[in-house]
Parts: sequence; structure tokens; C-alpha cells
Amino acid sequence: MLIEKYDLEVFTPPCEPGAERYAARARLTTDISEILPYLNATLRGAVYLPQANALTWKKGGHNIAFHAYEIATSNVGDRDGAEKELRGLIDLVNRTWERRAQITPDQATRQRPTPMAIYKLLPHTNCQQCGEPTCFTFALKLAAAQKQLADCPPLFAPPYAEKLAALQAIVIPAPAIG
Ligand code: SF4
Repeated sequence: MLIEKYDLEVFTPPCEPGAERYAARARLTTDISEILPYLNATLRGAVYLPQANALTWKKGGHNIAFHAYEIATSNVGDRDGAEKELRGLIDLVNRTWERRAQITPDQATRQRPTPMAIYKLLPHTNCQQCGEPTCFTFALKLAAAQKQLADCPPLFAPPYAEKLAALQAIVIPAPAIG
């Protein structure tokens, strides 16, 4: 296990008093720098900055950051949710560490796919099978990791095979946390 001890703090960011959004931070006693390229290889939309020894990630509209001795999440709707998410992130790091022999580490700094880049590859039928009013709304949520490719059934029909392959290349499935 990579992370065994940490101090966890949940707070409202000072720049958002009264905003009813919460942040959580775990201060670590272990340097987790070594795991960042492995997280970069497996987390959809992660942005790894080797010079800063940092990796940022968005999941479900939450802003997540991994540093050498700190993991943080922000923009969470309630205090319990912030704490639960942070414990899930620590578990994610430990699980990734356990299976690192099966992962090819990735040192590249990638840009997150933009909603427009995703939208261009969607069927553009606005059929609403994904539960969203339009394909563009779906693209916005997919870019923010609030939706999965599997939520758009038409994409898996033969006419969209090429577009699906292109989307799969830029949208890595998000791992479960928590
Ligand atoms: S299910 Fe797919 S094609 Fe239909 S509206 Fe949603 S994104 Fe567009």
C-alpha cells in the first residue's frame, strides 16, 4: 500500500464563503510522485505536469489535484461527499500502485478533449436516448466526465463505428472511486 497515513481536512474554500461548496485535502506522509505517470495513463482527461510534479483531473464536475504530498478535491456539494470522495481517491492511488506492473506509465502532458471536439464525433440526431436534450449537452457532460460513451446507444451502431473509435481514443473510461 502506497498511502497508509494521512491527515484529512474538509473545508469551504475562502474564496467561496457561503457558496455551499466544499473542498477536502489529504496531507500525506509519503511522496506519491512515482504513481502520477500511472494515473496519467489510466484517468480519463487527466492533465499531468511533470515539471510541477502535479496531475489534475475532473470527475463529475469536481476539481481533483494530485501532488507529491497532497491530494485535494473541490467543488463538492456537501461535507460528507467531499470526505468520501477524497477517501475514494486515496483508495484509487493505492489500487493503481498495486497493479502498476500491468500499466505502461505515461509521461505526456495531454490536453483534455474539448466539448466541441467530442460533439463533432457524435451522431447529431438529438434523439435524447442519453437523457440529455441535445448531443451538445451530452458532449459537455462527457467532457466533464459526468457521462460515459456507453450512455449514447446510437454511437454503437455500425454507421458510427469510425466516430466511436475516434471518441474511444480521446475519452478513456473513468475508473470507479469511492
Ligand atoms: S443519445 Fe447520442 S445521439 Fe442521442 S442525443 Fe444523446 S448524444 Fe446525441
